[in-house]
Amino acid sequence: MATDQAQSEAADDSYAAFEERVRRIANVSNASGILQWDQEVVMPDEGTPARAQQLSALSAISHELLTADETGELLEELEDSDLEEDQAAVVREVRRKYDRETSVPQELVEEISETTTNAHPAWKQAKENDDFEEFAPVLEKLVELKREYAEHIDPDADPYEVLFSDYEPYIDLETAERVLERLREELVPLIDAVQDSDADLTTDAFAGEFDDDDQEALARDVLDSLGYDWGRGRLDTAPHPFSSGTQFDARVTTRFEEDDLLGSITSTIHEFGHANYTLGLPDEGYGTPLGEARDLSVHESQSRLWENHVGRSRPFWEQFLPTARERFPELEDVSPEAAYESANQVYDDNLIRVEADELTYHLHIVIRFEIERDLIRGDLAVDDVPEAWNDKYEEYLGVRPETDAEGCLQDIHWSHGSFGYFPTYSLGSVLAAQLYAAAEDELGDLDDDIREGDFEALNGWLRENVHRHGKRYTTPELIERATGRELTADPFLEYVTSKYGELYGLEDY
Ligand code: ZN
Repeated sequence: MATDQAQSEAADDSYAAFEERVRRIANVSNASGILQWDQEVVMPDEGTPARAQQLSALSAISHELLTADETGELLEELEDSDLEEDQAAVVREVRRKYDRETSVPQELVEEISETTTNAHPAWKQAKENDDFEEFAPVLEKLVELKREYAEHIDPDADPYEVLFSDYEPYIDLETAERVLERLREELVPLIDAVQDSDADLTTDAFAGEFDDDDQEALARDVLDSLGYDWGRGRLDTAPHPFSSGTQFDARVTTRFEEDDLLGSITSTIHEFGHANYTLGLPDEGYGTPLGEARDLSVHESQSRLWENHVGRSRPFWEQFLPTARERFPELEDVSPEAAYESANQVYDDNLIRVEADELTYHLHIVIRFEIERDLIRGDLAVDDVPEAWNDKYEEYLGVRPETDAEGCLQDIHWSHGSFGYFPTYSLGSVLAAQLYAAAEDELGDLDDDIREGDFEALNGWLRENVHRHGKRYTTPELIERATGRELTADPFLEYVTSKYGELYGLEDY
């Protein structure tokens, strides 16, 4: 008995020491987050040389703390002792990061970091000149380095699977592949049917020029109506909108273009979804994985749930249009139905991912997924990327890019060495639909709430079932607990089939 007690006290002390270390690492990385936000949003152009050194110093500090021998010893000791469920979750998450960071040699990490720093301008230049050959050698180098990186982490595994798990540690690649294949099989004929439809949708409800300051005021109205907590957040502009921060300070950025009012509204709602997730993480978990968001797909599920299931719904426009008219009297003659139709137009000849609609978007992702997977596995040569890309666009979307700038050079991701990132966008949408359906199963149809601008029940459900858990559960566990089933494309396909079937008058849907 006495020995048991002594052992358990020793375990408590070790856990306390471990948690202190984990919190220190989190604080260093959250400080980096603020410096990055500052760099994107307010830093003067010439601040880069100093900022790059500051960020690199902080990243070295957190790397040293994480990979130190003491961390490894504490992990081993704690893994052998009886831990509470929450403590075990923290140990599981830190173990995973520790194993990955200690298995890749620091020289390789630095080489990848230098190569991506140089890849960025090379990609930009190649895109401007519409010349894939300028980017090809850098891409080749990145593919090689990332394969090497994957091999250090797990020499026996499929290298693409290893890279994918950097972004999505707990959803296995097989599940992701199954979901993406299903999307391809079902969406290709649905988009064909939309193309053949002679429905006469309103597409120009938001045509015109809209003043930046009024757009900003409207973005604040949107955030107000969704219940954004201004005491723990703020709104700024950035060329590529993002959100970042912690449960005490989760900031949103958006962008305003004179001729794209709808884009600024939807992008603000999207970023709200990300920030709202962060704000729902438990205060007491701050600094440990229990107070951190689950990974990219769950994060994206939150942004897309608000952007698409709320912000692109008919009741939302019934509720929000009067507010928009106060800022922009020129919308006086626009009906809620016209706004709804314009917000859900399918762009069947669009080549650009970031301009895609809810349907075609996923084929843009499937194409990138298939190409990057084959590249990393060595089944596709870098030189053959443009042709493979164009062929797939023709096959899946019925459009063929005429330039590489509008084709395989359009996205920044590969120049960052981010292979395995793209699938998380589609998985996020699929999960958004699954969560929304589960919320409606429990709460009843949410249209009336949305029509009244009352988001309390929906947000309460998300807080309860997703946000408050942080990283307590692995992603499949979290999904299963929240929705009663594993990740599946069914609810997403039901949602788009019924929505677009009605909008475009598709008889077979
Ligand atoms: Zn997002």
